[in-house]
Amino acid sequence: MTTTALKPARLRVAPSPTGDPHVGTAYMSLFNLAYARQTGGQFILRIEDTDRVRYVADSERQIFDTLHWLGLDWDEGPDVGGPCGPYRQSERLDTYQPYVDQLIADGHAYYCWCSRERLQALREEQERSKTSNTGYDRLCYGKTREERAALPGFTDSPVVRMLIPDGLDLTFPDVIRGQLTAPPPDDQVILKADGFPTYHLAVVVDDHLMGITHVVRGEEWISSTPKHILLYQWLGWEPPAFAHMPLLRNQDRSKISKRKNPAARLAWFREQGYLPEALRNFLQLMGYPPVHGDDEVASFEDFVAAFDWAKINPVGPIFDLDKLTWLNGHYIRSLEPAELAQRITTHLVETGQWPSPPDPAAVDLLTRATPMIQERLTLLSEALPKLAFLYTADSDLVVADDALATLNADAPRVLAAAIDIVHQVPAGSFTAETLEAALRAGLVEGLELKARVAFGAVRTAIAGQKVSPPLFDSMAVLGQASCLARLRALAGRLATQG
Ligand code: GLU
Repeated sequence: MTTTALKPARLRVAPSPTGDPHVGTAYMSLFNLAYARQTGGQFILRIEDTDRVRYVADSERQIFDTLHWLGLDWDEGPDVGGPCGPYRQSERLDTYQPYVDQLIADGHAYYCWCSRERLQALREEQERSKTSNTGYDRLCYGKTREERAALPGFTDSPVVRMLIPDGLDLTFPDVIRGQLTAPPPDDQVILKADGFPTYHLAVVVDDHLMGITHVVRGEEWISSTPKHILLYQWLGWEPPAFAHMPLLRNQDRSKISKRKNPAARLAWFREQGYLPEALRNFLQLMGYPPVHGDDEVASFEDFVAAFDWAKINPVGPIFDLDKLTWLNGHYIRSLEPAELAQRITTHLVETGQWPSPPDPAAVDLLTRATPMIQERLTLLSEALPKLAFLYTADSDLVVADDALATLNADAPRVLAAAIDIVHQVPAGSFTAETLEAALRAGLVEGLELKARVAFGAVRTAIAGQKVSPPLFDSMAVLGQASCLARLRALAGRLATQG
């Protein structure tokens, strides 16, 4: 489909600021944004903060930060404004009230003065008697305040409930799933005692007033949709199209929750050192086939160009972190080394491992060392541990026991020869190539040693470990003085140990 063939669509993501953002918010944003971009329409961010009990003050900022980090930018929202604002529901309370009044006047909604205790007792009684009549018993329906006040379980501040009619049509078309049927709803509260609308009223009013054409959200909202469609009908509005995305699942098929899986927190990916482009590509593959056949790597632009609702698989996609890590390695390798060093620096500052601003000398060292780790790096967070020996003062380098254990009787003469060779390399040509040629000639050919033995001893001196980034590159980055100091330190240690 080409962009011109489609009517510009308006889509939104509507997170509730109840904690640090869930990975599902990014997943929903990605698919909403893709369709908005494909049709040349708009993507809107709306903050659904009507639940004042679960409200967390810093959550909204985290939603902005993490979605911006992923490059999932919105055209209208609380921070950027737009023609349908305000985009924060708590700032729209005056907008909802007339619709509540209208629904009451039309007989579609009614006041309910039942106390929390009465509703609790009602629920317990229904559970005990195992009745099929669950839900609110309409005690308040048709009563004036005075009539109701005469009965037990009365509270002064009422809520407003929808009067769900008998025989409500519970089926509706879903863009992804075809015709769906939901269970019959209860007399849903639409206005709370604190004067805030519930999600169900606010979502309908706002989606309508904001001109939303497609409501794309998680499958947990399927059962609410008939209520929403009913509100559209009562208010005389055309409902939008509905698309219920599958829920992301753990390997054991359980729903991803912040309690059980750290990867449910969107911030976790940033903390771990995933690149936003890798996570974005990964989320594109959740319930959606690779854009380029067998190749799972695809840009957002390619995803947008090929996007098709019919390709979404509604069976909950499994969140496979190995795949994400693989994609991350791919994106890390495709960065320019200087850009990668910049990303690692940002990661170190953001995670508090480096101060802000970082020490220029540390950044310079990282920039010089990054090319030698790039090939095998899968997470930004692995960079500093791999390079720790470069950031250690020569006198503080700890030689690991397992590295020492690999040294054999040849080690003292290897180190003595290496010191001579390194010493003789002219300072101006202290490069990996020169060092490799000189050490190979002097140690492997000159001393007739196996490369593994010869270079193993040098590596132990330079990095203090059995395994390190490429040896000669490491030495070039470290510089002549440090290499000599480290070789001498290990040679001296072996000499005193006799
Ligand atoms: N505020 C709802 C949520 O947090 C939005 C659901 C919807 O998109 O309609 O999931």
